[in-house]
Amino acid sequence: MTLTDTAMVLDCFRRVGGLLEGHFRLTSGLHSAGYLQSALVLQYPREAEACGTALANKLRGLGAQVVLSPALGGIVIGQEVGRALGIRAMFAERLDGCLVLRRGFVLEPGEKVLVVEDVATTGGSTRETIDVARQAGAVVVGAAAIIDRSGGQQQFDVPFHSLAAVSFPTHEPESCPLCLAGQPVVKPGSRS
Ligand SMILES: [Zn+2]
Repeated sequence: MTLTDTAMVLDCFRRVGGLLEGHFRLTSGLHSAGYLQSALVLQYPREAEACGTALANKLRGLGAQVVLSPALGGIVIGQEVGRALGIRAMFAERLDGCLVLRRGFVLEPGEKVLVVEDVATTGGSTRETIDVARQAGAVVVGAAAIIDRSGGQQQFDVPFHSLAAVSFPTHEPESCPLCLAGQPVVKPGSRS
């Protein structure tokens, strides 16, 4: 990744409150020194387009014919990457807990697929989406996310690209170092 892309995307996130640093209680109940919410960036068409174009520029050489994203988080950025590459974008969604293609979306056998999501944390949903494409007989040529928040630990069997890497460890409240330091915890999105 280039410094320019990383600076651009982190600036986008910070400007709209999509990247906060402090002491947060996440929806999961875990505590973290960082909060990341890509929907806050992607609600702005210009920012969404900028992220999509920057990712597409890294991915153009893969020769993908279609973008496949996991719903809901990957839909907007998948659409933007597809638009920038001039290829179609579709999404897989959960049915009884498993990601599947619905709505008449079809991947042709041998079709070259690019898997795109907003934030890759454990990489689980990217891996699941790769499996959806392969089960359809398609060929996954790469995977991408706006932000890699695994701390650069992503392990995929296809090339993986992101615009920025951030690492925010999460802690159980009982063993949270920020709580132990007496720093007040806040819920992201709540206004004081
Ligand atoms: Zn804490």
